[in-house]
Amino acid sequence: MSDGAGRVALVTGANRGIGLAIARRLSRAGHRVAVTHRAEPPPDADAHGLTCVRCDVTDPESVAAALAEVTEQLGPPEILVCNAGITRDGLVLRMSEEDFGAVIDANLTGSFRAAKQAVRAMVRARWGRIVFVSSVSGIGGQAGQANYAASKAGLIGLARSLAKELASRNVTVNVIAPGAVGTDMLAALNDDQLAAIVDRVPLGRVGEADEIAAAVEFLVSEDASYVTGIVLAVDGGLSMG
Ligand code: NDP
Repeated sequence: MSDGAGRVALVTGANRGIGLAIARRLSRAGHRVAVTHRAEPPPDADAHGLTCVRCDVTDPESVAAALAEVTEQLGPPEILVCNAGITRDGLVLRMSEEDFGAVIDANLTGSFRAAKQAVRAMVRARWGRIVFVSSVSGIGGQAGQANYAASKAGLIGLARSLAKELASRNVTVNVIAPGAVGTDMLAALNDDQLAAIVDRVPLGRVGEADEIAAAVEFLVSEDASYVTGIVLAVDGGLSMG
């Protein structure tokens, strides 16, 4: 375990949105948190105690370099949150191979790359927490999001396989499946699309990034030591159907 100042945590794609909310929460919880960014680092990174490293999860060398930089600055990550993700929506009949592959590469293979790089040190330390940020689209499917839903469903298979591979080493691997959350990703929808989603949410509203972060904070805590391989929907009841 790290020296009483919490764990070393790495959150991918955390210069904005859900990732940034997770990073800030973990920092408030006393962890030493590194975030990855592609372009600009997050605002107020210093004030929130965040260490920033550049990383594009579609590039294996970039992922390896980011892990090495975090390890040098803070120590090997004991907590990994694979949050980076993109959408390239469209109906299957009009979806190009490129748009399908790009989403799988960023959301699913990118998470695999980060997890693969990080688990070695967790196994050695006999302690680790990995959380993949999936989506309710990965559970129920979503018209116009076949690429995205496939990538997010793939994360569940990846997480549960990894959970079984690493359980004996005291490394837990879980999945968060957010519903509609008010970030830039959701801002891409028009008012009618948004209203149609909210209409299906029993709690009757869009979620906040910090409500996803709260669930992640639990999954990476000591208190979640007996929780592995779960898919935790944080979606205002949307996935109840
Ligand atoms: P945003 O679009 O606000 O943020 C996405 C983040 O991922 C950004 O930091 C972005 O970096 C990063 N990212 C994208 N591609 C890459 C890449 N190739 N390498 C590194 N970083 C990358 O989205 P959200 O905060 O809303 O989403 C965060 C996660 O939550 C995603 O995995 C998303 O699928 C999931 N989710 C979101 C929901 C929502 O309603 N918002 C619902 C369900 C799941 P950059 O700034 O450089 O583009």
